[in-house]
Amino acid sequence: MTEILNADAAGLARAAALLSQGGLVAFPTETVYGLGGDARSDLAVARIFEAKGRPRFNPLIVHVADMTMAKEVALFDARAERVAGAFWPGPLTLVLPLRSGARISDLVTAGLSTVAVRMPAHPVARALLSAFGGPVAAPSANPSGKVSPTRAEHVIAGLSGLIAAVVDGGPCAVGVESTILGLTGDPELLRPGGIPAEALEACLGTPLPEGGSAAKPSAPGQLASHYAPSAPIRLGATRPEPRELWIGFGPDARGADLNLSLTGDLVEAAANLFHFLREADARTEGTIAVSPIPERGLGRAINDRLRRAAAPRH
Ligand code: AMP
Ligand code: MG
Repeated sequence: MTEILNADAAGLARAAALLSQGGLVAFPTETVYGLGGDARSDLAVARIFEAKGRPRFNPLIVHVADMTMAKEVALFDARAERVAGAFWPGPLTLVLPLRSGARISDLVTAGLSTVAVRMPAHPVARALLSAFGGPVAAPSANPSGKVSPTRAEHVIAGLSGLIAAVVDGGPCAVGVESTILGLTGDPELLRPGGIPAEALEACLGTPLPEGGSAAKPSAPGQLASHYAPSAPIRLGATRPEPRELWIGFGPDARGADLNLSLTGDLVEAAANLFHFLREADARTEGTIAVSPIPERGLGRAINDRLRRAAAPRH
């Protein structure tokens, strides 16, 4: 049962408690309703992908309450300070270098060393982020491929029964997504949105090219640079070859060096995926072998990530 919470003190306290337990809570922002989970919890973030039925682990935007929280997550240079000072809180997302030791789940960043951060302006979003007291990963609160929700009823229509709660804060004002500004190199517009590019250009004092091939996803989340281990990867491995490190899945892979989920739980497997790949990479000089993963639910996103990691490098 998905709880429908009022945007009052009691409702926000309940929503914050659910987030602390790793639950998913949809909440209003000035752009669209977001589907929030604790950005530090692999399981909570895996549940976001499961609830949305996303076929890919594209990186998610981290929502923060204030600059202190933002700087715990990302590294701000002078340009980032300047645009944040001008447009935050508001419908602007900054892609910045991830701060080392930030404790953000690898599923949020898709294993990259950059992170997308935003400080929303909506009073209910701000109150929830403050009550929770930590970074919240939140894509739009709709099933994958469906229209973004601008009312609590839209969230319920798409995700009822799949998430812990929705905070009803009325209709959203902007209705389009946040503008995404990349600041890990020269400034680039990664996605048009609620803040006009011209306003950003005026603030930065430079023209803003639309992100080049590396940065501009031709479909959401389709980044040119994906996290991949340096070791070669062999997929569909039902047993390891000599000197391979075996990442198993399910009860049949009992002898595996690491097991994504002994019980065959795809949410647990998704939560473990990135740090197991890193650990396997650190532990082997040879190949990483990975058990077959069923092509259903989160298994599709896991297989998509594994196929990219196994693809020839350039
Ligand atoms: P959504 O959360 O659905 O609004 O989508 C988030 C958007 O931000 C997607 O288009 C992502 O590709 C993009 N994004 C998030 N994190 C990063 C990152 N670290 N680098 C580049 N793009 C990102
Ligand atoms: Mg969306």
